[in-house]
Amino acid sequence: MATVISTPAERLQNHPGTVEQHWREHPRMAQVPEVGAAQLVPAGSRAVVVAPHPDDEVLGCAGLLMALAQAGRDILLIAVSDGEGSHASGSAMSAGLLAQLRPAETIAALGVLELVQVDIMRANIPDSRVAEHRLKLQDLLLAYVQRSDTLLASWHLDGHPDHDAVGEVCRDVGRRIGCHVIEVPVWLWHWRQPDDGDIPWHSARKLALDQEQVERKAQALQCYRSQLEPDLSTGNAAVLSNEVLAHFLRPYEIYFV
Ligand SMILES: [Zn+2]
Repeated sequence: MATVISTPAERLQNHPGTVEQHWREHPRMAQVPEVGAAQLVPAGSRAVVVAPHPDDEVLGCAGLLMALAQAGRDILLIAVSDGEGSHASGSAMSAGLLAQLRPAETIAALGVLELVQVDIMRANIPDSRVAEHRLKLQDLLLAYVQRSDTLLASWHLDGHPDHDAVGEVCRDVGRRIGCHVIEVPVWLWHWRQPDDGDIPWHSARKLALDQEQVERKAQALQCYRSQLEPDLSTGNAAVLSNEVLAHFLRPYEIYFV
C-alpha cells in the first residue's frame, strides 16, 4: 500500500533509507561482475542518457560519462523534466524557480566533469507526471534515438514514479528500435534492501571508478545546491541528504544491462 505523498522531499522525511555501508558490505555487491565503459557502450555507439530529473545523470552515471568522454565518444543527454517538483508546495523554492535553477545545476555539474561536448535536449515534460506524458517521451525518443545508440535509462522499478516511467518507456523504445538499453538504479539504493527479490542482480554490472573520478563526481554533485540544502521555508530536509549522497560516492557504479 502506498501513501500518496507529493514530493521527494516529503517522502524522504519519513523513510530513513538503507545505509550505504549495508550495500558495500553485502556479498551480492561483491559478486557483481566488473565491466569496462566500452563494454557498456561499445565503440561506434552513442550514449543517450535519459534523465528523469536534473541530477540523475550525474548520480547514476557520472563515471561512465567521464570515461566515454575521455574516449571521444558521442553523448546525448535527454533531460526529461526540469525538476520543478522536488520541493513541497508553498516552498520558497517555487516550481518556477526550480525550473530555472535545476537545468543550470546540470550544466555546471557537466562542466565539473569536463563533459563539454555533451548535447542536451530538454523534453519539458512536467516533473512528477512523466507517466501521464509517456507518449510524448516515447515520440521524442522514437524520433531521435538510433538503432546503434545505447540508451541509459532510469531503472523501471527504481521506486520513484518518474524514474519507473522513464525506464518503462525506454525499454519499450529499445524493443521497437532495436537499440541496447541499460538501466541505471538511483533510488533503489535508498528505498530497497540487497535481498529484495526483484533486484536483477543477474544483470548487474560494476564499472570501477578511480579515485580521481570519485572525487570529480563528488565535486559535480555539489553543483545541485537546490537538492543539497534543507528547505528553510518549509522545514523539510534536503532531498539529497548526506546519507543518500553516500550511495553515489562509491568507487564504482552499478548498471543493469
Ligand atoms: Zn530523479
